[in-house]
Amino acid sequence: MIKFKFWGVRGSVPTGSPDTAKFGGNTTCLEVRCENELLVFDSGTGIRYLGNELMKSLPVKGKIFYSHVHWDHIQGLPFFTPLYVPGNEFQIYGGSSMPVTIEETLKKQMTAPCFPVPMDIMGANIGFFDVAPGDIVKGDNYQVTLASQNHPNNSFAYRVDCNNQSIVFATDTEHYEDKLDEDLVELSQGADYLIYDSQYTYDEYHGFNGQMSRKSWGHSTAEEGLKIVKAAGVKNFVLFHHDPTHNDEFICKLEREAKEVFPNSIAAYEGLEIEVGKPIPDSLFT
Ligand SMILES: [Zn+2]
Ligand SMILES: [Zn+2]
Repeated sequence: MIKFKFWGVRGSVPTGSPDTAKFGGNTTCLEVRCENELLVFDSGTGIRYLGNELMKSLPVKGKIFYSHVHWDHIQGLPFFTPLYVPGNEFQIYGGSSMPVTIEETLKKQMTAPCFPVPMDIMGANIGFFDVAPGDIVKGDNYQVTLASQNHPNNSFAYRVDCNNQSIVFATDTEHYEDKLDEDLVELSQGADYLIYDSQYTYDEYHGFNGQMSRKSWGHSTAEEGLKIVKAAGVKNFVLFHHDPTHNDEFICKLEREAKEVFPNSIAAYEGLEIEVGKPIPDSLFT
């Protein structure tokens, strides 16, 4: 059985203003449970709240997977309390197109003068593993498969399979204008959920109506995500990695438009919890 919960749904930078508070202002963090095993995808600022929840039941054991290491996906890690507690155990998986390991990258983030506490003082038992597209990471009840995405400095999409259920986490990816991303279509085949980078509207992406174009910025649209849903026979669609300039009302509008094309769509919000196999939850505003 797969359950997953969103702790951070925002892209690029946290937003603290009241007009984004309903969907939430924290950056990317997804908790996934395969039976009772804990998997975390990205450690944006949302992971701080996940950490608070996990501290209620020690020891904590789990795996953390990185789509990539841009700020909005790593910035919460120094504030993830379970990492400081002896007896907890984490395996961290990630990589990039740069010749640096995931361990070096995360440790560099916690280096003076930008951060006062070095990662080495964290008390948990932490293992680091560099992974590449095509790799498969196995747990007792699940397996995680990676695919490459189109994003500056590279990023990974992940598929989690657990007892005939599956979800795909595909954030920070830019679609191709002339063809579908075949790797993502293959990774998403028959999946129960596709969580997809829906940062821009069609007009924003193309720079229509007097706006600047966002082409080559590394992000996509819900419309493009729904093409993957159709091609791969995915059952449910989640709009994710909301643009920091999109307020609650605007995200609702994007969600409504997605639902018109594919009713089993929902815009992710902080606290949204989904159990695969049950009906897709109601939207935040219904
Ligand atoms: Zn991002
Ligand atoms: Zn990015």
